[in-house]
Amino acid sequence: MIMAAATPVPTPTTTSRLRVLVIEDERDLVDGLVYNLQREGYDTIVAHDGQEGLRKAQTLLPDLILLDIMLPTLSGTEILRDLRGGERTRDIPVIILSAKAEETDQVVGFSLGADDYVTKPFSPRVLMQKIKALRRRVEGTADSTEVIEYLGVKIDRVRHRAYVENEELDLTPTEFRLLECLLRQPGRAFTRHQLMDAAIGEGAIVLERTIDVHIKTLRKKLESADLIETVRGVGYRFRESR
Ligand code: CA
Repeated sequence: MIMAAATPVPTPTTTSRLRVLVIEDERDLVDGLVYNLQREGYDTIVAHDGQEGLRKAQTLLPDLILLDIMLPTLSGTEILRDLRGGERTRDIPVIILSAKAEETDQVVGFSLGADDYVTKPFSPRVLMQKIKALRRRVEGTADSTEVIEYLGVKIDRVRHRAYVENEELDLTPTEFRLLECLLRQPGRAFTRHQLMDAAIGEGAIVLERTIDVHIKTLRKKLESADLIETVRGVGYRFRESR
């Protein structure tokens, strides 16, 4: 394709262009998203209703999905449930776009396995930053960083040791996994259910309040009550900044 002289040439940061599937029924919003995504160097696929979106996700296996909740024919939460249940689609990162700002909807989204969440109206810049952050996370977990450090807390995954300001912590395996999960994504709120999956193992039959007990002992060992923050109605997150 020959570009017009006035068109700025995008500088590609990766050799293969990532494909983003946008499942959204508001046409104006779709147009804006497609414009911004393409400008950032992504290829785009669009679906305007739920069934079309699910079908395209399952057949085209995009690298990332932007998913609206209120959709004709099939809701975003139903799509997410199906995607997470499918062998080939369960690991595709999903960012939910929703008009609903209530925390309960975020809980539902996260408990179904959404990776991130933006509430409409959102700024394209914020969404693009979230997409980039999510890609770093996905790529980061693929080569599984051996040492994670944030706000003075350090985890060495290979040696299975944890430190605060270079003082070693005496953690149980569950506390270690819990801290690792939180520390990997500072600022991200995790539901108790997600933390249970990460720390105790998927399908383990334990009460959600068990996590509260582990968090309590973890805070005590960190000698800080505010590094791990309580997110009301959701769960917990690692503090994003001091
Ligand atoms: Ca909608």
